[in-house]
Amino acid sequence: MSSGCIFCKVVAGEIPASVVKRGEGMLAFKDLSPQAPTHVLVVPTTHIGTLNEAKDAGLLGKLLLFARDVAQDAGIAAKGYRVVVNTNPDGGQTVFHLHLHVLGGRAMHWPPG
Ligand code: 5GP
Ligand code: ZN
Repeated sequence: MSSGCIFCKVVAGEIPASVVKRGEGMLAFKDLSPQAPTHVLVVPTTHIGTLNEAKDAGLLGKLLLFARDVAQDAGIAAKGYRVVVNTNPDGGQTVFHLHLHVLGGRAMHWPPG
């Protein structure tokens, strides 16, 4: 756990969150400020600041499959959805604990802003 990290606090249960799925070493919970009808965050339970610091290919693969499962559970898999990993300021990252956004329930735009 990284002190001061809000997603570490969510993982530890110190900050309430609407958890939608639990997996080994992973947690999925609803985004506080949803940008689509379905907006779920998938995080590793261990602290990794950004994708740049990630070293475990197996964990990254599990996170992606977990995000896929979250989309299937939410009923958005067939119509489509988007998985996003914002990285560092230019990528739009504001919380520095690696997370995948799972967005769906509406058509997504491209290119992203
Ligand atoms: P980023 O901008 O880093 O890619 O995404 C961070 C996301 O975390 C944002 O979409 C923001 O709404 C969400 N967020 C920030 N603080 C909290 C929180 O305390 N609880 C939850 N569930 N989401 C949060
Ligand atoms: Zn953290």
